[in-house]
Amino acid sequence: MNSQPRELQRAIAALLEQVQGRHVYRPLTEEQLVSSAIELANHPTVVGLLPMQSEELEQAMADAMPALERFRADARVRATHADLTDDTDEIMERATRAASRVVLVPHYTVDRGVPTVTHRYVAEDLDAVLGYVTLLLFDRDRDCGNRLCICKLEGCGRLFWERRNPSGGPPARLFCSVEHMQQANGAQNAERVRKHREKKRRAKRVGKSTK
Ligand SMILES: [Zn+2]
Repeated sequence: MNSQPRELQRAIAALLEQVQGRHVYRPLTEEQLVSSAIELANHPTVVGLLPMQSEELEQAMADAMPALERFRADARVRATHADLTDDTDEIMERATRAASRVVLVPHYTVDRGVPTVTHRYVAEDLDAVLGYVTLLLFDRDRDCGNRLCICKLEGCGRLFWERRNPSGGPPARLFCSVEHMQQANGAQNAERVRKHREKKRRAKRVGKSTK
């Protein structure tokens, strides 16, 4: 089911570490936090993939499933609606309520005179962290929501970040991977060939009947 278990495990660990009382709070950049939430949202059943097995953690994840489902739905709204309107009111109300249970503690490291500012997201539960990430996604002054896309390949629907085009063109926003782009194009080509043959066959039949 999951092609990148290690990345997913890292994402789950990063998020759970922010949940109060469970682990050491590892400081994260905003991008790491948002990416971890998106990664988690892409995997509907994560209980069997926890970074460390414990009954307490499995229970925590099982409890968080409804919050995760809601977050997935909210993120999809953000990724599909270029022009956001009143239908986000309910999402905002819920997200702001949840996010009020997160405290950001700044963390600084300086390497050769260059500082990096990260945060520990000290949260009551996963719902609170996901609510905060939802606000980041919908914040117009931040870029992460604008870069969020949904894979158009039938049966995929993965959330992903637009990919920069190495040849300088517009970024790739339609498919989550090169493989899925090729699969979609392959399906399109097969359909085109099928239609072309069908047309030819019909033309032949018409040609015969007029003789
Ligand atoms: Zn895909």
